[in-house]
Amino acid sequence: MKAYIVTDYTEDFIATNGKLTTDEAGQKLEQYIVEQAEKHLNEEDYIVFAVDIHDPSDQFHPENKLFPPHNVEGTSGRNLYGTLNDWYQVNKDSDQVYWMDKRHYSSFSGTDLDVRLRERRITEVVLVGVCTDICILHTAVDAYNLGYDITVLERGVASFDPHGHEWALNHFKNILGATIK
Ligand code: ZN
Repeated sequence: MKAYIVTDYTEDFIATNGKLTTDEAGQKLEQYIVEQAEKHLNEEDYIVFAVDIHDPSDQFHPENKLFPPHNVEGTSGRNLYGTLNDWYQVNKDSDQVYWMDKRHYSSFSGTDLDVRLRERRITEVVLVGVCTDICILHTAVDAYNLGYDITVLERGVASFDPHGHEWALNHFKNILGATIK
């Protein structure tokens, strides 16, 4: 059993009018991320939607100084993008599907993800979503430190920054020992 973790594939990060959008770079991933969700559902893997939740009035949150407000609690910007949202609406009641709010880049920071994976004896994480060099990177580093095997699906990740994207793919492979597929 693996965990297929879809990070921040939301309106704010993907839609052309999103608050912090990767725009076309992110939109290109849509069909592949949905196909892989279906595949991992059929393979009885655990499917996690790791989604930023922010409060722009929180003066203590470091992202509020770094980025414009995005994925604000209670806004449609947090909805999954496009046909992935359709897929989620159909499958959200499955025991294999878990919506997980997160406050930081890493899916492991301040969440119960590690506990849930250990309960299920999951030892491998499969990562897709955005951004390759921010939330995917920080999640991969934490997964490495926690001893998980890591796979990053190259066709399933994107960034605002093409150089950061390439750098992160090399880092996953050469420094974190990840499999890049
Ligand atoms: Zn954020």
